[in-house]
Amino acid sequence: MSAELRFDGKVAIVTGAGAGLGRAYAHLLAKRGAKVVVNDLGGSVSGEVKGTSTARPADVVVEEIKKLGGTAVANYDSVENGDKIVKTAVDAFGTVDIVINNAGILRDISMQKMTDNDWDLIMKVHLKGSYAVARAAWNIMREKGYGRIINTSSSAGIFGSFGQANYAAAKLGLHGFTQSLAKEGEKRNIKCNTIAPLAGTRMTETVMPKELVEALRPEYVAPLVAFLVHDTCPENGSLFEVGAGYICKDRFQRSEGVLFTPQDLTVENVSKNWSKIVDFTNGTIPTSNQDMMEKVMKNIEAAASQK
Ligand code: NAD
Repeated sequence: MSAELRFDGKVAIVTGAGAGLGRAYAHLLAKRGAKVVVNDLGGSVSGEVKGTSTARPADVVVEEIKKLGGTAVANYDSVENGDKIVKTAVDAFGTVDIVINNAGILRDISMQKMTDNDWDLIMKVHLKGSYAVARAAWNIMREKGYGRIINTSSSAGIFGSFGQANYAAAKLGLHGFTQSLAKEGEKRNIKCNTIAPLAGTRMTETVMPKELVEALRPEYVAPLVAFLVHDTCPENGSLFEVGAGYICKDRFQRSEGVLFTPQDLTVENVSKNWSKIVDFTNGTIPTSNQDMMEKVMKNIEAAASQK
């Protein structure tokens, strides 16, 4: 049997860890030795925060972890105030090694009925929130030459989803964020990856039958997330779909395309070549715009030589 992958000495922040997926990540990391900041502001699925007589979800999860012999502290700030969440980690444990940007809400509504508030709130929690926590942790990670960050996307973002234009835009935006952090962090051993999970939680229980909610346990997503934030993980800037024990990697494909000379580039020629432009038979799998730039540069040079 292979050695257990552990997180002893590592400090992890898990946002939105008072329920669902975040709770499963916090439990798994703490069980394997990480000191965990359990962040959760305790709102509803649509982001409303009301006073409650029951214990705060972050406190409940911290107690669960402590009872199992783990180390955790609670933080109740909204992810928009990422600096406060990172301060909780630094005050309690001296540093931060791992950030799992998981907190999220929904404001599902069709485009014709969407208000600016529905749009802005989703951007604030998902995009601004993930940025704010990562930004506050970033320089600590750079200085120590170590960091692992996860951003949480969704199949809604990858493929689009009826009634979720706001959520889908934020969720795919997060993968652009991941890919940029992966490039910026590479030299300092900061790795950043994106997951698009599928799990039965309060977020999905309104749209899934009860049996499916019970079958799609958040615990089935957590092992991938734990591996992606482990020292030994080689992955950086990647996107994974994960749920119910299935894990796969997604990537972009570029068709071979058509290179027009400036003289040939007319609307009619675009129309004439359409089937070739969209033909993926000899497609490539790019990880940057480098090879496209090489083709484009040839055209620019050819145009310059004709002057
Ligand atoms: P959940 O509602 O069970 O948990 C989300 C938690 O985030 C809640 O405890 C909530 O209080 C907290 N939260 C919300 N806004 C916050 C804020 N501003 N600051 C701090 N905490 C906040 O949902 P979940 O299904 O566990 O979702 C976790 C993440 O996974 C979300 O980003 C969600 O969009 C994403 N996701 C989930 C699924 C799925 O199938 N469950 C699918 C795709 C993406």
